[in-house]
Amino acid sequence: MKAAIVTKDKKVSVEEKPLRSLKHGEALVQVEYCGVCHTDLHVKNADFGDVTGRVLGHEGIGKVIELGEGVTSLKVGDRVSIAWMFESCGHCEYCLTGRETLCREVKNAGYTVDGAMAEQCIVTADYAVKVPDNLDPAAASSVTCAGVTTYKAVKVSDIRPGQWIGIFGIGGLGNLAVQYAKNVFNAKVVAFDISDEKLELAKKIGADYIVNSMKEDPVARAKELTNGAGLDATVVTAVAKTPFNQAIDVVKAGARVVAVGLPTDKMDLDIPRLVLDGIQVIGSLVGTREDLKEAFQFAAEGKVVPLVQKRPLEDINEIFEEMEHGKIQGRMVIDFTK
Ligand code: NAD
Ligand code: ZN
Ligand code: ZN
Repeated sequence: MKAAIVTKDKKVSVEEKPLRSLKHGEALVQVEYCGVCHTDLHVKNADFGDVTGRVLGHEGIGKVIELGEGVTSLKVGDRVSIAWMFESCGHCEYCLTGRETLCREVKNAGYTVDGAMAEQCIVTADYAVKVPDNLDPAAASSVTCAGVTTYKAVKVSDIRPGQWIGIFGIGGLGNLAVQYAKNVFNAKVVAFDISDEKLELAKKIGADYIVNSMKEDPVARAKELTNGAGLDATVVTAVAKTPFNQAIDVVKAGARVVAVGLPTDKMDLDIPRLVLDGIQVIGSLVGTREDLKEAFQFAAEGKVVPLVQKRPLEDINEIFEEMEHGKIQGRMVIDFTK
């Protein structure tokens, strides 16, 4: 099968790679679509360690074509996800308390195990989440990481209907964060980015206010919008240190700041501000299988509409370059159906 494989010089090579046979509890998926996440860019750049030889991809959607022994949760023909949350141990304190993404034995598609940027992919059947029939598979691919991650992050922010939430970074994740926050959690949404094109998109998909942090002071703007109070919560998907610091500065006392983006950097935390204002800074990592099921359902109901453009696998290095230069609107999705 053809697959996108990480090379030693931090590029991706499209190569033929043979697949091993299925083990107990596994299923073989014929991949239809796989979104290109900024995390794939971090992985191929070795930001989290060298993974030369690994097949990328954790926004995979495809159909089950073969079952290993002992599989009862799937049947041939089911459409399923191949997500970052690929498999966990199932019996540790995290797995047993609804926090399986934090399992110390967790496997991640396209990072610690071969992923979905390939014509075919082997999955652990019990961890492949079924896609609702009425959800377009290319749209579903974007929900498999960007959607579930932002849905979960907004959940973690504890935002209530009518409250003010700030979303920093309106890329592949951020465009979905705006929609989940607005259409599922019924919040008032302020979108922050440094690109006018991304902010125009944010406006189009439902952000109440847009702020270009390069052109105006995000803190002054947040205060102005909320009669001096500050926002009730923020979610940061941007890949830079500055927006992480700004996300703390724009919130009111007692607010939650949910960190999602993964710049390899440190953020500044003013200790008196943190303590005296009771600010909570929380890291949020993708979502559980149950979160993904919910995130799919909201997309199937049309409350969230992923913005995707289909591209051939051969474009993968070009897509990463476009991503690095901030040129992508929404999500680029590799099309394996042609
Ligand atoms: P993306 O490249 O599509 O979007 C990044 C966005 O941030 C762009 O719109 C860009 O204009 C904006 N941005 C850059 N600098 C900014 C600044 N100073 N202020 C405001 N906005 C700024 O990337 P993506 O696919 O949306 O992923 C975003 C980040 O989230 C990546 O680091 C990725 O690895 C991470 N991620 C985390 C999780 C998780 O579970 N925590 C899951 C998926 C992705
Ligand atoms: Zn991702
Ligand atoms: Zn576990």
